[in-house]
Amino acid sequence: MLALLLARKGVRVTLLEMHRDFDREFRGDTIHPSVMEILDQIGLVEKLHEIPHTKVSGPTLQFANGTIRPFDLGRLKTKFGYILLVPQAKFLEFITGEGAKYSSFKLVMHANVNGLVEQGGVVCGVHYADDDGTHEVQAQLVVGADGRFSQMRRLARLETVKTSPPMDVLWFRLPKLAGDPAITGGAFGGIGRGRMLVMLERTNYWQSGLVFPKGQYQKLHAQGVAAIRQEISEIDPRFAKNAEALTDWQQLSLLSVESSRCPLWHKPGLLLIGDAAHVMSPVGGVGINYAIQDAVVAANVLTEPLKAGDVTNGHLAEVQGQREWATKLIQSFQSFLQNRLIATVLLSEQVGTVPWQLRLMTKIPVIRDLPPRMIGFGPKRVRLEQV
Ligand SMILES: Cc1cc2nc3c(=O)[nH]c(=O)nc-3n(C[C@H](O)[C@H](O)[C@H](O)COP(=O)(O)OP(=O)(O)OC[C@H]3O[C@@H](n4cnc5c(N)ncnc54)[C@H](O)[C@@H]3O)c2cc1C
Repeated sequence: MLALLLARKGVRVTLLEMHRDFDREFRGDTIHPSVMEILDQIGLVEKLHEIPHTKVSGPTLQFANGTIRPFDLGRLKTKFGYILLVPQAKFLEFITGEGAKYSSFKLVMHANVNGLVEQGGVVCGVHYADDDGTHEVQAQLVVGADGRFSQMRRLARLETVKTSPPMDVLWFRLPKLAGDPAITGGAFGGIGRGRMLVMLERTNYWQSGLVFPKGQYQKLHAQGVAAIRQEISEIDPRFAKNAEALTDWQQLSLLSVESSRCPLWHKPGLLLIGDAAHVMSPVGGVGINYAIQDAVVAANVLTEPLKAGDVTNGHLAEVQGQREWATKLIQSFQSFLQNRLIATVLLSEQVGTVPWQLRLMTKIPVIRDLPPRMIGFGPKRVRLEQV
């Protein structure tokens, strides 16, 4: 996204991607209202909606004594009061395809960055390897947008501070079947047995997740896939038939939930953004949203200095300064929900009825409107300053 935004403004960008394509392991498919507003600013939002998608405006949580909708993005003051679910591979192909329309944009696939070029303590490029050997790219600025296991972060010796949220998630696909329940808001959470079953409606399947307390993965794995089918049918018997499609542990992918943040996102000539700078817990599915907001702020701050060839450490600190507080705030908010609601209420063996905390959240307007705002936009609406 940053590569696209800079290339649009005539800044020469080389985007190095280690994989041969974008179609690989599941990493979430959620495009939030803030991202759609930004794509609207640059005239791409209609095209985005041409990719086959579904929409989620908020989950319906099912308890023994009824259902509750803890938040509704439809209440937001925006044209896009929903999360758009599009396969991440398609989204990235779309964004890089738009980038390729600019002569200043160059994408090199299967380019594994494995070293920094440094001169006098300043990063001035990278080395990458592909089938033809090792190559060097010289650059005024290197941006590490290389995800939670960031090689750039390691090479630049920038540290992270980690916290360990109290749950993990197993993600898998279930088939849609005739007679499946209609899910209000496009997302459903069934609570029971110390687990939470998440069902997100996709175009031709259910994207499903089983949330469980951290530390239980080995036990679940030892019990095997039959026990997962059993869990699903006991939490919500309406999906028992769908669960029969799970026959092999390979169909499940573990999201080891982590939350972390780098105290310093930059050094001379290098900036980290997205998961490389901060890994988000999956509560609210905000990782992609926050990564893209970092890219937009980086474009706002850095486009002119890049064009003038005078990017300073002060500019890089400015990007971190504009984004760090928002990251800290959402991580605290996620931590609050995880510890107060998810761990002690939703993943508790005893839970059966709608907890009072959730009822309260939906009754008091100022509290009711906070989760959709935080999830849809974060603490501050990020906009592209120069369209
Ligand atoms: C299982 C799972 C489910 C998730 N679900 C959601 C969700 O529903 N909603 C949500 O918002 N977030 C979700 N997330 C988080 C989300 O994927 C990230 O927050 C988001 O993708 C971060 O974007 P990014 O660009 O910083 O990093 P990434 O999307 O991780 O992109 C990093 C890119 O860098 C490339 N790369 C890495 N190393 C190198 C290298 N050495 N050389 C060249 N290229 C390299 C990678 O191949 C990758 O394409 C999920 C994460 C996981 C693991």
